[in-house]
Amino acid sequence: TNSLMAGRRGLIMGVANDHSIAWGIAQQLHRHGAELAFTYQGEAFGKRVKPLAESVGSSMLLPCDVEDIGTVDAVFEELRKGWGSIDFVVHAIAFSDKNELKGKYADTTRENFIRTMVISCFSFTEIAKRAAPLMTNGGSLITLTYGGSVRVMPNYNVMGVAKAALESSVRYLAADYGPQGIRVNAISAGPMRTLAGAGIGDARAMFSYQQDHAPLRRTITLEEVGGAGLYLLSPLSGGVTGEIHYVDSGYNIISMPRPEDLKQ
Ligand code: NAD
Repeated sequence: TNSLMAGRRGLIMGVANDHSIAWGIAQQLHRHGAELAFTYQGEAFGKRVKPLAESVGSSMLLPCDVEDIGTVDAVFEELRKGWGSIDFVVHAIAFSDKNELKGKYADTTRENFIRTMVISCFSFTEIAKRAAPLMTNGGSLITLTYGGSVRVMPNYNVMGVAKAALESSVRYLAADYGPQGIRVNAISAGPMRTLAGAGIGDARAMFSYQQDHAPLRRTITLEEVGGAGLYLLSPLSGGVTGEIHYVDSGYNIISMPRPEDLKQ
């Protein structure tokens, strides 16, 4: 334990269970002295998240479904009443119909396109807008993205399009809120075994391809993505905003596998 985040308070959105990326980030923040509030989506997840929140000394646990903007407003009203100000927000929320996370992107329906965009992209903008007035001493927001935004990954489909929009919104929000000392960044994580990760068609194949072809020849850990979150939410990254920070064992830099690996 040290005092990197001592005296800093923030909101963690997107913990479903102890495999969640948001939980990996929360643990690192707690280890470095931050005070945390959590949101959960629905009572079933609430039961899972409660003991996790308690284990890091959090007593602020609030329901929030980003499709219902009233619940988002209520979260920030609770934070205003409880804490007055906040220093950081973690947005680790995404959703798309599982039936459209396989096959062709071209088969995406209008209804699921809109729903995917609202939950996985626009919610971050709505959250930033509500968090900014509470960040009276400056602040830092992060969201989670994936490299399927810039390169075509089989089955990632509409989620890749939503992540591209999310990454662009990171840059626009960084420009909007920079003058107030509020930083906005994204972590582009390599494939991880989470509930959301399991929704992508052939997730296992993505996982083992990463292990075989990323420069580090392995997937990333929850601790590693948590460490990147800690960096981006702490003063250590004070000069960094509008950035898409890859935590992917270097996978994104590779254009083609080594010829000897192809022959296997
Ligand atoms: P996860 O299933 O643990 O977390 C996803 C979270 O999104 C859940 O807590 C769920 O409750 C929440 N959510 C979905 N719809 C919501 C709604 N309408 N309102 C409120 N919350 C809602 O999975 P994860 O992998 O930890 O996902 C977190 C983020 O990381 C997502 O944005 C995901 O796209 C991103 N990401 C995941 C991977 C991976 O391989 N798992 C890789 C890169 C990026």
